Amino acid sequence: MIPAQQAESLILDLVRSPISSDRETLDLLSAAGRVLAVPIQSHLDFPHWDNSAMDGYAVRYADVQGCGEQAVTLDIIEEIPAGSVPQKLVQAGQAARILTGSMMPEGADTVVIQEETTRTGDRITILSAPQPQAFVRHRGDYYRAGATLLPAGIVLDAPDIAVLAAAQCAEVPVYRRPRVAILSTGSELVYPDQPLQPGQIVDSNQYALAALVSKAGAEPIPLGIVPDQPEPTREAIAQAITTADIVLSSGGVSVGDYDYVDQILAELGATIHIRAVAVKPGKPLTVATFDPPARPESGDSADSVLYFGLPGNPASALVTFWRFVQPAIYKRSGRSGGWQPQFVEGRSLQELRSDHKRETYLWGRAEVREGSYVFQLAGGSHSSGNLVNLAQTNCLAVLPAGGGAIAVGQPIQLMLTT
Ligand code: AMP
Ligand code: MG
Repeated sequence: MIPAQQAESLILDLVRSPISSDRETLDLLSAAGRVLAVPIQSHLDFPHWDNSAMDGYAVRYADVQGCGEQAVTLDIIEEIPAGSVPQKLVQAGQAARILTGSMMPEGADTVVIQEETTRTGDRITILSAPQPQAFVRHRGDYYRAGATLLPAGIVLDAPDIAVLAAAQCAEVPVYRRPRVAILSTGSELVYPDQPLQPGQIVDSNQYALAALVSKAGAEPIPLGIVPDQPEPTREAIAQAITTADIVLSSGGVSVGDYDYVDQILAELGATIHIRAVAVKPGKPLTVATFDPPARPESGDSADSVLYFGLPGNPASALVTFWRFVQPAIYKRSGRSGGWQPQFVEGRSLQELRSDHKRETYLWGRAEVREGSYVFQLAGGSHSSGNLVNLAQTNCLAVLPAGGGAIAVGQPIQLMLTT
């Protein structure tokens, strides 16, 4: 049994980042949430040319710097609406009418905002002296052509998509989503639409894990329920490793008479790296690799498949996913960092108890009150078999190994799960 931190590092070391054959090209409208596969440069400066930040008049600073002591009146030589190119040079004693975003005309270096002027026909009187270069956005102020605009490995969000559009990247190279096969082991399991006989329970893990996999930016491949028998278990795992980058099974990794997963993994040639982690819930966690996989349908170079045998209890399956699987998916997706769960410090509204030797995770809700996180423990049982009170939680309070209680108001680490 190894500590959580050690399991996390070991798992991340087993995951390789995607390679160039893992790329695909998407149009911009489909790229949100995907991981950028190459750094993006632009041949354009931003702004592309000197332009006005306001509606007003483009002038020569030298003409207007003394205004205030004496009125300055200039001739308006042209109007420059957005999208047009100035035709005339602004000379001494002249101004051009300019609108927000329009190109600055040659000769002018400063914009006087409309509110500081009075206009009579084709003449303008400036009421107060502007700062030199006022309201001019200079070419290249925001970005110089050729520098890195966006680095590889970022998850594309709305501002990034806007930047790509502005840089005229109509098509964007992203990494393909990792394929994550999911299977549920247990002869007691039935599908949600099947009649429930005494002794049976519904396979909820399949659906929870598929939702978590999608949310993590990967593609879930649900492979259904496998009874607790060696042959079907072997077939299901053998199939899973040919189609997926990562395989998740739930159940069958404890020490019970019908827990076949570890045995079958070994028979299929997997290297088992972890069998148990010192966390509660979630102790029986198997992590293995198949290297190289049988992947006849793909021309890809051999790549190892990462296998997670999650415990079957619903709370254990979810907690181990958040703590250990999600970082692996993030790394395999090509994200350049930020793989680990997000921990924040908060204060508990209840006393929290753990008398266990393992690091303990209690589910509940974190919210920000007066600028800091407070933790509301989910009511009801924190048994790993209880999934009902996991609903609508958004974090796990992490109690260090060694037991003891956390008093009301004491600082506590919270692991955010949404
Ligand atoms: P196991 O890890 O196979 O010993 O399962 C531990 C507990 O989790 C048992 O009570 C199972 O019935 C339950 N369980 C296992 N798999 C699932 C599943 N896919 N959905 C919901 N509960 C499950
Ligand atoms: Mg089982």
